Amino acid sequence: MKLSLVVPCYNEAENVAAFQAAVIDAFQDCGYDYEIVFVNDGSKDATLHNLKKLHKEQKCPVKVVSFSRNFGKESGIYAGMEHAGGDYISLIDADLQQRPEIVRDMVKILDEKPQIDVVAAYQDRRGEGKVLSFFKKRFYNIINRLSDVNLHSDASDFRTFRRSVRDSLLELAEYHRFSKGLFAWVGYDTEFIPYTACERNAGTTKWSFKKLMNYAIEGIIGFSTKPLRYSIYLGSFTAISAVLYLLWVVLEKLIWGIDIPGFATIIVLILLLGSIQLFCIGIIGEYVGRTFEQSKDRPVYIAKEVLDYEN
Ligand code: UDP
Ligand code: MG
Repeated sequence: MKLSLVVPCYNEAENVAAFQAAVIDAFQDCGYDYEIVFVNDGSKDATLHNLKKLHKEQKCPVKVVSFSRNFGKESGIYAGMEHAGGDYISLIDADLQQRPEIVRDMVKILDEKPQIDVVAAYQDRRGEGKVLSFFKKRFYNIINRLSDVNLHSDASDFRTFRRSVRDSLLELAEYHRFSKGLFAWVGYDTEFIPYTACERNAGTTKWSFKKLMNYAIEGIIGFSTKPLRYSIYLGSFTAISAVLYLLWVVLEKLIWGIDIPGFATIIVLILLLGSIQLFCIGIIGEYVGRTFEQSKDRPVYIAKEVLDYEN
């Protein structure tokens, strides 16, 4: 098997058949073998039913891994890579926003350039709103400054890579997964190619602003411990400010004999310091929580059903 397309699906009932058709269309005269590894990420609609139909028909080699509940796209990618048998593995969405034709170009690049291990697509024109775009840019600025890994600001999970890269990624069995960071962390030589995301074939996006926010925090906490360092700086700064203010108050009293009317300042200081403390405890908590999650050593996903085509 030359190529495995790994497709995480969450409530994509209307899309999976169209996706397979588009793949067959794009790869009909490619001259190599390929398979589609669908991962049903605990969908609540007819996705699994439709996937089973595709598996039964086997118009092209189809594997289906079905989760016991919704574990998230990152877990879907992990499971799909585990079950992928190809020399090349491609991560692609089920909603046809990322065209299978581009995967063919990616494969061509890997074939022609043995020194390249990963071909990653980045969005040259973003179809999303200005506000979201602004926040995404800020996020990549922050994470690149905070962490050791360097992320391409428009890169997506839409990638094709060699099996050796897949093996390295699977070795990172961390519970909180952030693929873009993991790709940057394992290294290898990456070529970036531009692509334009199409409209969704059917259904709606699974990302809300809140989910994206959590995803961003995931990325920062998962790849950097610098927030902890910064909370030390912040603490030092407020401590120094407090001492200076104390000196000022004493001088005011001794030199000019001014009485300090206290309660307003005290309330403000209590609120300020209290919130800084809570903020820093929150940061520490994030790391402790992650250590806790990881120490439980739970699997990244649980598969309820695996439909392989060999049996
Ligand atoms: N997805 C998933 N599990 C989730 C959320 C999303 O497997 O919990 C899949 C989804 O079915 C799709 C891909 O991840 O194939 C990308 O999701 P979506 O299209 O909603 O994201 P967007 O393209 O809007 O960034
Ligand atoms: Mg999409």
